[in-house]
Amino acid sequence: MPPPDEPQFRAHVASTGRLSPSLRRIRFAGAGLSDFSSSGDPDERVLIEFDGHRRSYTVRHWDPAAGTVDVDFAIHAGGAAAAWARAATVGSPVLLSRAKGWYHPPADANWQLLLADLSALPAAARIVENLAPATAVHVIAEVPDAGDEQHWVTTADLTVTWLHGTGNGHGPSALPDHLASLPLPPGPGYVWSAGESGASRTIRAHLRRRLGWGADRFDVMGYWQADKERWLARYREVESRIEELTARELSSGKSFDEVRDAVDAALDEAGL
Ligand SMILES: Cc1cc2nc3c(=O)[nH]c(=O)nc-3n(C[C@H](O)[C@H](O)[C@H](O)COP(=O)(O)OP(=O)(O)OC[C@H]3O[C@@H](n4cnc5c(N)ncnc54)[C@H](O)[C@@H]3O)c2cc1C
Repeated sequence: MPPPDEPQFRAHVASTGRLSPSLRRIRFAGAGLSDFSSSGDPDERVLIEFDGHRRSYTVRHWDPAAGTVDVDFAIHAGGAAAAWARAATVGSPVLLSRAKGWYHPPADANWQLLLADLSALPAAARIVENLAPATAVHVIAEVPDAGDEQHWVTTADLTVTWLHGTGNGHGPSALPDHLASLPLPPGPGYVWSAGESGASRTIRAHLRRRLGWGADRFDVMGYWQADKERWLARYREVESRIEELTARELSSGKSFDEVRDAVDAALDEAGL
């Protein structure tokens, strides 16, 4: 059996459409998807292979009866995937990997906060749509344009704050400052956050260091890297140092989150 992250399910573009000014929805279909199944995590992602590139995208809808997978692509400047999604036509072939996700609120969480930029909006939307009735959830969503706001059908107790014009490749994300100034509800909660990697690191540091939260109370993911080419060039310079540090921290018996704290601090120090 191929490794879980190996794109292995053959599919093709069945339809494409404009969801909003900055999002394009592509439906994948094909006999190869008969073996595909959902992980059950609402933020599940697949690796999509197209024209020799592999990129991570969220399964916005999976219809097992029809055998279709819907993916919402952010259309941004630069990037093989964004360009592919902009130009994709019915019949274009792809391979999809198995799906997996990270959204795991602890059982005692009596409120949830979701922070998402445009790339994470499909996951946030699916999370909200799948919440149990009356779950208290606040979504802070950063989108390029007011026209990218979405309306979700849910029985959860939903509050949405839309931020426009920041982040998403148009400048620094406003999500970290927004979180830092937000009075959080009392009692145990859960934060799910995804977006640009630098902003995600700041958000994670706030939860972990400023608020002192345990790692089971949040899942914070970097979905993409601003100024990726410069970042990768600088990373290559410090890669061996970061790898040695990671190996050392792991072998000293530290938890995954403690190791991540140390790696995040080293990346900060390297200006990454
Ligand atoms: C678990 C997971 C789930 C994801 N789900 C989705 C999803 O459902 N929809 C979605 O659109 N994206 C999603 N992403 C993000 C997507 O994988 C990245 O945006 C990816 O880098 C796009 O590839 P690319 O080839 O277009 O750009 P790249 O080749 O990676 O980058 C080229 C240039 O584009 C810039 N760039 C890349 N992504 C963005 C962006 N989102 N906004 C602005 N500038 C960008 C980079 O900084 C770089 O300068 C997800 C990522 C992860 C890890």
